[in-house]
Amino acid sequence: MRIAQAIIAGLTGLALLLPALSMAGPTPLSRKVQTRENMEGSIPRPDQEKAAQAKLDALYQKTGKRPNIIWLVVDDMGFGDVGGPWGGGAHIGAATPNIDQFAREGLALTSTYSQPTCTPTRSAILTGRLPVRTGLTRPILAGDKLKMNPWAGETSIAKILSDAGYYTVLSGKWHVGELEGMRPFDVGFDEYYGYYAAQKEITQSLDERKYPDLVLDPEKLAAYKSMHASSALEYGKKGGQEQIIEPTTSVEQFAEADIKLADWSINKIKTLAKSGKPFFLSHDFMKVHADNFPSKEFKGKSASKYPYKDAVVEVDALIGRIHQAVKEAGIEDNTFIFITSDNGPQMDSWPDTGFTPFRGGKASAWEGGVRVPGIAYWKGMIQPHESAELFDLMDLFNTSIHIAGADARIPTDRFIDGIDQSSFLLADNGNSRRENVYIWVEQDLMAMRMREYKIHFQVTVPEQQWMDIDMSTKQKVGLAPWLFNLYIDPREQTPVGHRGNAWLASMAAEAKAHAATFKKYPPKDVGLGQ
Ligand code: CA
Repeated sequence: MRIAQAIIAGLTGLALLLPALSMAGPTPLSRKVQTRENMEGSIPRPDQEKAAQAKLDALYQKTGKRPNIIWLVVDDMGFGDVGGPWGGGAHIGAATPNIDQFAREGLALTSTYSQPTCTPTRSAILTGRLPVRTGLTRPILAGDKLKMNPWAGETSIAKILSDAGYYTVLSGKWHVGELEGMRPFDVGFDEYYGYYAAQKEITQSLDERKYPDLVLDPEKLAAYKSMHASSALEYGKKGGQEQIIEPTTSVEQFAEADIKLADWSINKIKTLAKSGKPFFLSHDFMKVHADNFPSKEFKGKSASKYPYKDAVVEVDALIGRIHQAVKEAGIEDNTFIFITSDNGPQMDSWPDTGFTPFRGGKASAWEGGVRVPGIAYWKGMIQPHESAELFDLMDLFNTSIHIAGADARIPTDRFIDGIDQSSFLLADNGNSRRENVYIWVEQDLMAMRMREYKIHFQVTVPEQQWMDIDMSTKQKVGLAPWLFNLYIDPREQTPVGHRGNAWLASMAAEAKAHAATFKKYPPKDVGLGQ
């Protein structure tokens, strides 16, 4: 199998000499400790862990109820679209006052990492596992024939939290499989209200201005529809059948999708707040993934007037409405909210695309592909501040489960790549427990971030400006990996190499130790290989 062979081939004698389970990290540069062979090691922060636990225990004593958990995931929003410490907002034509307020009143994370594309990030945060482990290494597209249900043998956070007594809901974009056995309500969510695919996949067959060769050719259109995922707004309940709430019939109608989804989530929050159960809501926006069409309410509402920017303004406003609903339901003190984007901006669709100050974009291993805004907000529990320490979105899996008091339910028979970062988020001036961020693009380990350093073993090279997905190549590096110091070179332009850095060999050894985990826990191939 190509994936396994490539990973094993990447191991050198150095990695093979490493003990299978070391209590300390693999090199002197590493501060992490591995407590379980099949779990990513973490940096011990004993005082902060104690302080965070004391806060959680005190709140539980007071409320008698586990905290609600809300994830607000925007699609393809760029690091630089958001105001506050990410540097976007009004001066690039789309103010984000509601997200900015969350950033001011919560923990603004400026070194948050996603996977390079949609399906990989969504599967990773739902399972706490790297896409190369689950096989969900790239977006599932129309016409894909999966060899097996990618959810077979995987456990979603929704299942874990359901088993722990939570009511679990997903509203919005799913994109992690739409056949029976793969849908949100098949893998642990109590309820699902949303769309299976990304915006462009849904509107492509309706948008004759952009896709006349498809929309105006009846034969091609029929063929496309026969292989295409459902484009309808659907509803499903655990143990039940899915229902079509509304077929998608025009781009103008679909432009209202996010408002409908937010209205549904807001009603759900009101109802669930009155129930005796804690809830988990993953609200996944359709916007701002290309192609963006402005809703009636938000058309021209951004200073720039471009559809992408109107979409940013809309998403920001809807985040504000959801926040208002949480406040009005009287549950803000007992609700952990995390706001993020599932990957960097898709530069190929410019100007219907976001902004990143970094090199590259969606689908690349450069910072522009994987560095996204992150905000952890919890009134009275998370002290307002900023941190540039490392947070991988997979950590949301472990962190949310810890907050829910359900650590014991995390599977122990597979490798878990997420880390419980509750002490980072909750302790005053908490520090990250993550030492390494591994950046895979499909089946290739491209790069790794550690402290302020980032090492590339392969690089994504666009052949034309803004063509990171459709006209880029992966290239092997030459004599030495490319090592950047992101503090002095955040755009990854000038490798410091062995001349300017003592850690080249250590960084390579860290990545090799990571690759070695695949020997005992082989990657899965569900049919999304190249
Ligand atoms: Ca995405």
